[in-house]
Amino acid sequence: MTVYARSDVSGVSIPPELGGCGEHHRRPVKDGTPLKLFALACPPCERALAGNPQWSAHRWEIPLTPDEEREAEALERQSERLLQQERNEAARERSRQIAALNNGGGQDDEEVVVVGGQAPAPLPESGGDPAPPSSGQDQTSLQLAAEDDAVDLSTLTINQLRVKAREAGVGQGGSKKDLIERIRKASGS
Ligand SMILES: [Zn+2]
Repeated sequence: MTVYARSDVSGVSIPPELGGCGEHHRRPVKDGTPLKLFALACPPCERALAGNPQWSAHRWEIPLTPDEEREAEALERQSERLLQQERNEAARERSRQIAALNNGGGQDDEEVVVVGGQAPAPLPESGGDPAPPSSGQDQTSLQLAAEDDAVDLSTLTINQLRVKAREAGVGQGGSKKDLIERIRKASGS
């Protein structure tokens, strides 16, 4: 077993009458700098230091000096503030996105209001707009695709072309080009 010293402990010496070995154990020093970790492996001294607030049996539970505790608290408060700022910023960003979505949908769906000459009331928390803008766009593009069949066959996938070929009552095999040719002939264009 090993015990670990608080960072302000530079050494420890426990006399035998107190259960220690009587030797002086010093914090290791490297290049003139005391090392951050002072691990003591001396069974009698470890036993004598059990329960001492400046020592810990676990490397990840080394007690903090009063200075370190103040610093840790300050850091914790600061990270709490930073977290809160990030949360606020994320919430603002979400509101902006929702507002942008609502505005976008509003311009598509509420031209009547503009024609009427009235400034549309801003609805920042508009949760009750029943028109889902995406489905409207889908329908529009489907209609466009249907109307522009003759022109836009080349933009369809081969699977879509096979469906059209089946609908037109012509063969569904061959390349994209074959399919387009067959469908065009079948539709008379
Ligand atoms: Zn010792």
